[in-house]
Amino acid sequence: MKRWRVPDYRFTLCSGLICLLVMLSACNRADGVTALACAQAAVAQMAQGETREAAKQVRQAVQIAPDNADVSDLAGTLLLTTGDYSEALAAFRNALASDPKDSLALYGQGLAQLARGERRAAQESFDNAERYGGNPTHLRIVQNYARWLGGTPLDKPGNVETPGLQAAFQGMTAVAQGDRNAAIRALEAAQSATPGDPILQPEGPLLTFDTAHPLNTGQMPLPANHGLNPEPGREQGVSGDVLFTPEGLTPSVAYVAYEVDGQALSLIGLRPFQYAWDSRTVSNGWHTLVVTLFDRNAQEIRRVTKQYRVANRSAAPPADAERWKPVREALWQALTPRLDRCACAYTLGQLYRAQGQIRPAEVWFARTVAIRPDYRDARRQLADCGGLPTGNPAIYTGLPGEKVVALTFDDGPKPGVTEPLLELLQEQHITATFFVIGRHVMEYPDLTRKIADAGMELANHSYTHPDLTQLSPEEATRELLETQAAILTVTGKTPRFMRPPGGNWSGSVADIVRHWGLTPCMWTVDAFNSEVIGTQQVVQAVLQGVRPGSIILMHNGKVSTLQALPAILRELKARGYTFVTIETLVQRLDASKSAARPASGPSPHRGE
Ligand code: ZN
Repeated sequence: MKRWRVPDYRFTLCSGLICLLVMLSACNRADGVTALACAQAAVAQMAQGETREAAKQVRQAVQIAPDNADVSDLAGTLLLTTGDYSEALAAFRNALASDPKDSLALYGQGLAQLARGERRAAQESFDNAERYGGNPTHLRIVQNYARWLGGTPLDKPGNVETPGLQAAFQGMTAVAQGDRNAAIRALEAAQSATPGDPILQPEGPLLTFDTAHPLNTGQMPLPANHGLNPEPGREQGVSGDVLFTPEGLTPSVAYVAYEVDGQALSLIGLRPFQYAWDSRTVSNGWHTLVVTLFDRNAQEIRRVTKQYRVANRSAAPPADAERWKPVREALWQALTPRLDRCACAYTLGQLYRAQGQIRPAEVWFARTVAIRPDYRDARRQLADCGGLPTGNPAIYTGLPGEKVVALTFDDGPKPGVTEPLLELLQEQHITATFFVIGRHVMEYPDLTRKIADAGMELANHSYTHPDLTQLSPEEATRELLETQAAILTVTGKTPRFMRPPGGNWSGSVADIVRHWGLTPCMWTVDAFNSEVIGTQQVVQAVLQGVRPGSIILMHNGKVSTLQALPAILRELKARGYTFVTIETLVQRLDASKSAARPASGPSPHRGE
């Protein structure tokens, strides 16, 4: 045997081998942490609902480790929760190619199959997921759900621990059995037991109880070029034992050295100088092979560098699996099945309408369109129940000859400030209009009811106070409808007026506002500039600006305004003014049949 006969290489090779062992584990770790770091960032962003940001991290993880089952599960979860069921299926299948016993991938595959109407295949996936240790709570729900979709009534699904879903199964079964009262009771219980803001869709895969579209999601879809699955035609990687054969052999070649990622593997002195490399000793991904050909005198003849993509289909090594565990737990959490509030709200609207109970039907149809404005015929149903007023052109002022003013307070309700404001107005027997933020309405329902019970008018100031002109039409529509649903749910009344947050207004926002039966309410006097300076300035600004018919814009939340009000009210009363809501102001305008038109557009109001 001529192997190892060149003394110059012996030392290099031995130290190289030791070094190689050290470096191999380091190499594994370096790649693992990078994909893991991306995955960790992605799950944190997904939990915040920042799916587009998360997609960037997932894309990077897929590029680093396209054959890592955990990375594929991450991609599949993001795709599933953003409603791309075909791509989600591909991602989970990719995970299963690496690890056929991956319970999370089997569960995700089942959900994607269910969404695509492949119920039997889904049931098989869920059974396999259970066999390999998948989350038993999740699996019980989806197995029951698949059976329900197959026509098995499940009024006692048993052990469905996820809040809301047990009641939903009972309610939907009662619907099928024609027991409307039982259905209403159970479905309302399901709605209130479902976690999160009751007006918005919960996170995760949503069960619709609709056989035509069994699964839904509250998240916006990702752009089509998301790149979360490896390219279909990508080069297949190498796996297992790889036989390296040197190219360009000439009779003068006496030795061939092999290196991977800068570390010596072997020095071969026997023709045909082949070397069998165990690719399982390195991490999946790209590795650099250097083959060097030497002559008898240890002079280099030729050096060839090649890139190999290693793609071993095996589970992650145990040490690696431990580090991925929190990511996998977060993915299981993200894939918790929840009730689809939209479909459930629509069913409740129908049930109440069939019972002849129009007011609660109106609430549930309003909540349906707040989630999906185009859901079935929910808009028409809402109109039939009286929940769609007639939208009119924007109002800026009342009758110029009438000594009335409309006080309006934006941005509430706000605990600690709304109460004393209400007290003050009630003491003086004054009614006003509160343009409330929908999110605050749901956060402080009791305080909101207090405003309504005090005889004040509630109006729509959007759900989260965004610049509506910067949103997509769909997003702007939802901001308005979510707030309508919130006010209606809490007070039982449908608002007629809206005011754009920050005064930001455009033609397309105006179209949406009119389409949904709302009337924009602008203002004659804007107190905002003085509200941020001080009490005396608010008094001055309002008293100098006020004219008969004025709409005065103030904020529910500014202490300066609260302190300025007694002086303002005293002086306006002394001047002979009375105080009305916007509703009354508009009624008087209509009655006079001479619509007062503004001379110019509104001055921009910089709200909260
Ligand atoms: Zn505002």
